[in-house]
Amino acid sequence: MGKKRRRVKIHYGRFIVFLLILIIIVGGIIFAVSSCNKDTYRSESGFEDYAAEYFESIGGAQEYGNMQQSINYGDVKSVALQFPEFGEGVQNDVVKKVLRDAQDSFNKKHNAAADKGEGQYALMIGYESYKTDQEINSLAMYTSEREEIDGDMQIVDDNVHAYNFIAKNGMELSATQIFRSDYKKGVSKYVKEYLNDEYGDELLGGYEKYISADADNFNEFILTDDGVTFFLDDGTVLPPEKGIIKVRMSDKDLKGIKRDKINLRAMDPNKPMVALTYDDGPRIKSSNRILDVMEKYGVVATFFEVGRSVDGIKGADKVLKRELELGCEIGSHSYTHADLSKLSKKKIRREVRKSTEAIKRACGQAPTVFRPPYGNANKKICKIIDMPCILWYVDTWDWSSRNSKKIVKVIKKEKNLDGKVILMHSIYDSSAKATEKIVPWLIKEGYQLVTVSELIKYKYNEEPKNGKLYGYTFFYSGE
Ligand code: ZN
Repeated sequence: MGKKRRRVKIHYGRFIVFLLILIIIVGGIIFAVSSCNKDTYRSESGFEDYAAEYFESIGGAQEYGNMQQSINYGDVKSVALQFPEFGEGVQNDVVKKVLRDAQDSFNKKHNAAADKGEGQYALMIGYESYKTDQEINSLAMYTSEREEIDGDMQIVDDNVHAYNFIAKNGMELSATQIFRSDYKKGVSKYVKEYLNDEYGDELLGGYEKYISADADNFNEFILTDDGVTFFLDDGTVLPPEKGIIKVRMSDKDLKGIKRDKINLRAMDPNKPMVALTYDDGPRIKSSNRILDVMEKYGVVATFFEVGRSVDGIKGADKVLKRELELGCEIGSHSYTHADLSKLSKKKIRREVRKSTEAIKRACGQAPTVFRPPYGNANKKICKIIDMPCILWYVDTWDWSSRNSKKIVKVIKKEKNLDGKVILMHSIYDSSAKATEKIVPWLIKEGYQLVTVSELIKYKYNEEPKNGKLYGYTFFYSGE
């Protein structure tokens, strides 16, 4: 019996050894195969390869700025950066800001995990940049946050920051300087067709929202040598793992969308800026006198025109076209200069629509902003108007005084005009005369004269939103 038992024992022993070897071999194979397939890294050199792959995936050119690279591997947090260096100035500031913001947010999210030694997180930043033959340099910086999920490094958040700079002075260009005022409509149409051709069934439900001609869309783009590249955020039109989607439009595709000649007026977001606005026009003589000042000093203003004063008025179309050529912004001031607070919803809509149509007929472009007559509009009315509703900060009372000296005095009395909107009217010679005095004074005081939309974008860091009321409190930047 004893012998027999011993034999059985040996048999089991061999079997267990065999099983162990089998497990090690099979496990090893599975591990080897899986680590080959998995999109991850386990070492410093592994992360260097992983980062190199990311930089390469961006594609495009790096024609502009000196390329810098830094790769930092950590057991939990790893960071790989590739960015252009420009020395001093606005361009360098924007690059530094992107690098700083992305790293701050990444560290904040994952410092606790790093302390515990748990997980694997990567932040990657890369870029593409162009020197175009239109005296413009462009830069797109990409940030990609990744996290190990089920053994795979997966994209958690992808972002793009796009800039266009004037080559000779490094100042940033705004969309209104590059495109015609209603450019988003044309871009929206093109992008929709492109996405349907290219991706068809893969498109996410509700993707149309992200490619409509709204304030939130098509604000990120770069000029390249033969067109413009627009960026669509990850997870908006396609599943997030597809990352940021680039849509290229050639100059041919951009006909009627891009300005024939890009307005190369310099703008520095770090310097004080003020927006002159003129209501109730156009009136041929006084409007042109104001535009003469804009042209002489190379500055811009916003004109809130009354539809009725455009429709069928000889020479009105020329005034509006001149405003656009000089880079000024055209707003709507309703069709009949009606007090909208006394009108029905339907009649408000009619005032807005008719005015938009009249302005578009005259100059080929729709107005981009709206000013309610008498400043009479609340949040509810602005929703109905469905354009950015702009009031003012400094009322010059020019319509009441009709005296250029008094108008100038009201403006000069303000201690700080940075971020402010000044209200005047383009139908009085006294207001035109005041403009001749006030523009050189503002320039001497160090102010940049910008359009209302530029002011909202560059001073307040927001895209003008349809249906939003930009009132006194909005422009009161506090002092
Ligand atoms: Zn008015």
